[in-house]
Amino acid sequence: MTRIVQKFGGTSVADVDRIKNAALKVKAAVDRGDQVVVVVSAMAGVTNSLVDLTQKMGPLPDAREYDAVVSTGEQVNAGLMALALQALGIQARSWMGWQIAIQTDGVHGKARITGIDTQELDHRLNGGEVAVVAGFQGMGPRSRITTLGRGGSDLTAVALAGALGADRCDIYTDVDGVYTTDPRIVPKARKLNKVTYEEMLEMASLGSKVLQTRSVELAMNHKVRVQVLSSFSDVPGTFIVSEDEVVEKQIVSGISHSRDEAKITLLRVADRPGVAAKIFGPLSDASVNVDMIVQNVSEDGKATDLTFTVGRADLDAAVKVLTDNRNDIGYERLTSDRAVAKVSVVGVGMRSHAGVAQRMFQALAEKGINIQVISTSEIKISVLVAEDYTELAVRALHTAYGLDAE
Ligand code: ADP
Ligand code: ASP
Ligand code: MG
Repeated sequence: MTRIVQKFGGTSVADVDRIKNAALKVKAAVDRGDQVVVVVSAMAGVTNSLVDLTQKMGPLPDAREYDAVVSTGEQVNAGLMALALQALGIQARSWMGWQIAIQTDGVHGKARITGIDTQELDHRLNGGEVAVVAGFQGMGPRSRITTLGRGGSDLTAVALAGALGADRCDIYTDVDGVYTTDPRIVPKARKLNKVTYEEMLEMASLGSKVLQTRSVELAMNHKVRVQVLSSFSDVPGTFIVSEDEVVEKQIVSGISHSRDEAKITLLRVADRPGVAAKIFGPLSDASVNVDMIVQNVSEDGKATDLTFTVGRADLDAAVKVLTDNRNDIGYERLTSDRAVAKVSVVGVGMRSHAGVAQRMFQALAEKGINIQVISTSEIKISVLVAEDYTELAVRALHTAYGLDAE
């Protein structure tokens, strides 16, 4: 007996016809004899509209009521999917997050799952019923509805697969797998048959939003077998696997990019111990995540320039914190730039190959693209460039690493 989770993203359940089409995928699994848990997203665009509605009630809506509103798109679709399955003669019922319950902490808008009660679902699956679960939502302290961060239905699916001991978690979307880079930007992108958890985690966190970052992290930690595939075709997708399952390792597997970046430079900061703590301490207290950092060598031994990046949405908050703490930190001037993007190359093969960075710098130089900041880890190299050059940079790197499809 195989137990699977099938998750359908927004475009796969964007209207009644598509929900009916997705239901046929579920039926095929049921007909094979599988036990099936279905996780649904809201119809494409619905979550954005719900977010807009909350903002029309005033700036900074109460996060608990924000969650009460934005979680509803998934609730509608869970009910509709259960109806579509029933119409096909399948025994199915919908489950909201609180009914299972998918328990979370109280960080509304991006709650973490703390536990899932599986007893009732287990029992029903064993009895042949299909469980249709509303993605993206859970139940926080004092029974408040929480949401799991944008793209969070992926997390619901992987977490359920882990908790229910499913054999596989199939993520149905509008592309037929994970590509070497976003196929909407590079038509020559190639589909990967397999990608390692670590590479997928880097790619997702560096901007390849085909899977939500935290869902990949959870899949990696709980060894959940994930497949990304299309709900509009019948071809096998991409499997996310452990490194030992990949026979032919590419040096670079993928190119990611993110426009969710902003750059801050502090000019003439005192060059002495303790200054970095004075800058980054208050930013962290204000929940601003700092990503790439470069510090120049000071010419006179007294002052230096420090450049770093933050999420674009956090730029105003970061500038305010730094301005408020200017006397304590001690710097001459602050400049900031929103028109930047981060472009990254990712691959486990980097561990054992030299010259990967050089090829990146060369390819960007040939296109006249200036590198503003660089950061690296064992399996990735990221550069910050002017936003206008994002697509050119991604395409140039895709070609430079030999990833273009014939
Ligand atoms: P869903 O609504 O099904 O969750 P998403 O929009 O969240 O779908 O994710 C699918 C999209 O991810 C694709 O349409 C594609 O444009 C984008 N994407 C970005 N990077 C990649 C990549 N490396 N491979 C495949 N898709 C990617
Ligand atoms: N509907 C939610 C969103 O748009 C969750 C999801 O689709 O995964 O972010
Ligand atoms: Mg998604």
